[in-house]
Amino acid sequence: MADKEGFLKYRRELPKSRPPKDRINDYKEIYQPLDPKVLNQQAARCMDCGIPFCHNGCPLGNVIPEFNDAVYHNEWELAFQILKSTNNFPEFTGRICPAPCEASCVLGINKDPVAIELIEKNIAEKAYELGIAKPRIPEERTGKKVAVIGSGPAGLAAADQLNQAGHEVTVFEKDKQVGGLLRYGIPDFKLEKWVIDRRVEIMKEEGLIISTDTEVGFNIKAENILANYDAVVLATGAQMPRDLPIDGRDAKGVYFAMEFLGKQNQVIAGEISENPINAAGKHVLVIGGGDTGSDCIGTSNRHGAASITQLELLPKPPSARTELNPWPEWPMTLRTSSSHEEGAERFWSVLTKAFTKNEKGEVTGLQIVEIEWKEEGGRMKFVEIPGTERVLPCDLAFLAIGYLGPKTGLLEAFEVDLQANSLPKSNNYKSNVPGVFLAGDMRRGQSLVVWAIAEGRECAVEVDKYLNGGVSSLPRRDQSFYSYESDAEMSV
Ligand SMILES: Cc1cc2nc3c(=O)[nH]c(=O)nc-3n(C[C@H](O)[C@H](O)[C@H](O)COP(=O)(O)OP(=O)(O)OC[C@H]3O[C@@H](n4cnc5c(N)ncnc54)[C@H](O)[C@@H]3O)c2cc1C
Ligand code: SF4
Repeated sequence: MADKEGFLKYRRELPKSRPPKDRINDYKEIYQPLDPKVLNQQAARCMDCGIPFCHNGCPLGNVIPEFNDAVYHNEWELAFQILKSTNNFPEFTGRICPAPCEASCVLGINKDPVAIELIEKNIAEKAYELGIAKPRIPEERTGKKVAVIGSGPAGLAAADQLNQAGHEVTVFEKDKQVGGLLRYGIPDFKLEKWVIDRRVEIMKEEGLIISTDTEVGFNIKAENILANYDAVVLATGAQMPRDLPIDGRDAKGVYFAMEFLGKQNQVIAGEISENPINAAGKHVLVIGGGDTGSDCIGTSNRHGAASITQLELLPKPPSARTELNPWPEWPMTLRTSSSHEEGAERFWSVLTKAFTKNEKGEVTGLQIVEIEWKEEGGRMKFVEIPGTERVLPCDLAFLAIGYLGPKTGLLEAFEVDLQANSLPKSNNYKSNVPGVFLAGDMRRGQSLVVWAIAEGRECAVEVDKYLNGGVSSLPRRDQSFYSYESDAEMSV
């Protein structure tokens, strides 16, 4: 155990972020480096409780008290080994995970939880600094070939596991660079892209083959993949955006959030010279109160928007847990992201009725009405509040109201059966087609990076078993721990 009185001696402390007025001038990570003494104290706060619920909260089953103890004793190599045994990419989750582990930390019952995500990030960074994070080249090769389609966190985690198991793995990616939404969705101020490049370089040295600018189903046919590989992992995400079918939706200036965010990341990467959607000087409306909406706020502020307003259909969440939402459940409480801190007005319980437009077809406003939520027959329903109708000025609107599922075409090309909700039918990561497996958002619907990594790892075990006559030496998460459906409220 780290320090048996650490949780009594030290308060939770996180690194300071750069002041909002400074950081909106660039797209760099917003947090400042942390004093190593403070990190040591944060690790000391872990109580090493009898039943560590944090394991249960983490979809990867990260072995948290053990790495906290190693950090406290400055045993960085051990800390990194423990962390890597369950998580292929702690440098990603340590920056952008919403940390469900912290929501179920026992200390969180009556104090602030242990800063697990912060400790995770620092273990990963220290491992690179000390040269502990280095290529591990598999000693033996099986002679089996696996194609992984899609290079988001799910595809990369599956590929990493299968490469380490000795198979020859090729990752096919339709975009110019690997990373999926890590690269072309999540803004740089949350995750700078050198963090992905640094990790991918190691994976290449370990023998991973990567083919970018290669859209399977377009540049290479599904039948060629099936003919040339012993197994296939489909991990192409769930990036089909949900639309808002209201009057005026066709107005110029109304976009899906990802049309804006993806292009901004391309600008920063130097792939294109400017974002075709410019928020400078505009009254921006962000429709949808989740992470994607929050990322639109951060990016619009960096463009120099005149005003930014975020609208949410659901009621404003409470600031603290209610009796109906006790520890260790995920807290359904009000979240204020770093992008909100940078400036935006937020409205809850608002129904969007219609966009207004001028004679040129450009959006000029959004008609809204306030609503009241009521329980009726065990279900929540809303009614409009008469007299609250109004028009918000709008030059630019972003729809960030969720994702419907995978884009069409690829699953059909592989003859994978679909469910009514457009996600593929899957049985323990297997599709109906022998040798074709499924992982990540494409299998479970739009979710989180930590879930994508967990899916990639679990899927790799099934692929390995398929290739090795039913046995696999790859580690598996203890599934009795976790309800795989319980994170709906954390999705973007
Ligand atoms: C704006 C935004 C912000 C987010 N912020 C967070 C956050 O802060 N924290 C968090 O935990 N999660 C966040 N998420 C969710 C997270 O990014 C996803 O859950 C995660 O990336 C899913 O990983 P994946 O590998 O399943 O799919 P993806 O990341 O979507 O990757 C799929 C890949 O497949 C490729 N592909 C598709 N079709 C083909 C084809 N035919 N051939 C070859 N390649 C193909 C795509 O180009 C893409 O690279 C965010 C999502 C969005 C949209
Ligand atoms: S991956 Fe996320 S949930 Fe798991 S330990 Fe790290 S921060 Fe917590």
